[in-house]
Amino acid sequence: MRDVLARLGLAETNPGAYAGAALEGGYAGRVESLNPSDNAVLAAVELATVAQYDKVVSEAARAYKEWRMLPAPKRGEIVRQMAEALRERKEDLGALVSLEVGKIRAEGQGEVQESIDIADFAVGLSRQLYGLSMHSERPRHRMYEQWHPLGVVGVITAFNFPNAVWAWNAMLAAVCGDTVVWKPSLKAPLTAIATHKVCEQVLAKNGWSGVFGLVIGGDKDVGETMIHDTRLPLISATGSTRMGRRIGTVVAERFGRSLLELGGNNAIIVEKDADLALALRGVLFGAVGTAGQRCTTTRRVLIHKDVYGELVPKLVTAWKQCRIGDPLAEGTLVGPLIDAQAVETFEHALSAAVAQGGKILVGGKRVDRPGNFVEPAIVEARADMAICREETFAPILYVMPYDTLEQAIDWQNDVPQGLSSSIFTDSFRSAETFLSASGSDCGIANVNIGTSGAEIGGAFGGEKETGGGRESGSDAWKAYMRRQTNTLNWGRDLPLAQGITFDV
Ligand code: NAD
Repeated sequence: MRDVLARLGLAETNPGAYAGAALEGGYAGRVESLNPSDNAVLAAVELATVAQYDKVVSEAARAYKEWRMLPAPKRGEIVRQMAEALRERKEDLGALVSLEVGKIRAEGQGEVQESIDIADFAVGLSRQLYGLSMHSERPRHRMYEQWHPLGVVGVITAFNFPNAVWAWNAMLAAVCGDTVVWKPSLKAPLTAIATHKVCEQVLAKNGWSGVFGLVIGGDKDVGETMIHDTRLPLISATGSTRMGRRIGTVVAERFGRSLLELGGNNAIIVEKDADLALALRGVLFGAVGTAGQRCTTTRRVLIHKDVYGELVPKLVTAWKQCRIGDPLAEGTLVGPLIDAQAVETFEHALSAAVAQGGKILVGGKRVDRPGNFVEPAIVEARADMAICREETFAPILYVMPYDTLEQAIDWQNDVPQGLSSSIFTDSFRSAETFLSASGSDCGIANVNIGTSGAEIGGAFGGEKETGGGRESGSDAWKAYMRRQTNTLNWGRDLPLAQGITFDV
């Protein structure tokens, strides 16, 4: 463990503010990063002050003035080198993700791979920031749209993707010509520092400083200053709906843009003609993967009444076989929850589910070992139970039988969140119904694969209380740029649009 930290340049106590180099002195207290597998201290971080935050943003604003004028493919070349640097450090960074947030080895490695993938994507994108051209109604006029960078982008990240969510934002923002200031979760500050250092070294080697800044500070001082800061035209924030409501409101009030990636309450519908072996695996990974701590975690499974009696016992058996333990050990499928508070939240949700008429079919207990381990639970539930409408960030799966596909789609949509959804079916008609305008209301709708584990190529995000933002692939890059419409007159007359004459 110490080797991994040392190889990534982490000390026992680390500065919490970086603008090119680390900023010295004047810290606002410290936070210890704990390993959720045993709650031992990994290392400490000195929290940034508001003055240090201010310095980081000033440096990013200074760097922006030059970075925006570097041709986009040249920015892409630097991002290509970052992808290479992340590849070289993938093993260690992935292990750090496992140590700091408890993801199993494969998922820790997978998270860093996602950062590499988005960096590769951004390299190609740097030559494809296309605008449209239009035919003007006026003779000898040319019209087109072009995309310019926005400025300094603020990125606020959740604990559960401490590496990839920043990369989703930063790699796109960088090729778009923006500079970035990152405020990570205080539950995963070490992954942020290590990730920042890997990319910062690449920038320094290319003669750049201030393009990526990092500020590890409290929500009440640094966080609130950041979201009110008019120097940041865009705040991209990933986290709970409670956090998003606050950030969305504050940023809208100052006419900034926000890109919100918030909570999910994702359902899988299993039709009676589904391949049940496939559905079983999809539900298992979706519900138990990352110990239920993904925004796309499967939280509800709606099963056609004709196959309910067959599928549910199979799920229960699979749940009993899940190996819980050290996330870095071979064969472990379920690591710990992030902290003791998360274990309590898990227990409260289960008590509420039982009080509302649910029945625990398997799991639901603390595991008798150090750290924040729980047994993933399956609860037989009804769609109208209040707890089924909430996102509990823990491995609890609510199962319920339904009669008709229409009813299942209604239940699936009848929650405040709208992130991810799936149907398992071999019926073309059922699949298309689910994907139609009268089907899933989520930002992500899948057929015969689960709700989690999205690829970077598509736009990622959700509707309703999930916040409406889109990140990652497709045309999500447009959120990091401003559009400008240009009309050029190369003639010797000045005709007005709509045929208006205005001569004296
Ligand atoms: P959280 O809301 O507690 O914290 C998220 C981030 O917001 C942290 O960096 C936190 O410090 C910051 N923050 C909170 N209040 C702030 C304020 N007033 N000003 C500035 N920053 C503030 O979330 P969490 O527990 O870290 O993560 C879990 C949540 O994130 C879940 O709800 C999950 O669904 C969601 N999530 C969503 C996505 C997505 O893409 N939709 C991805 C990952 C996680």
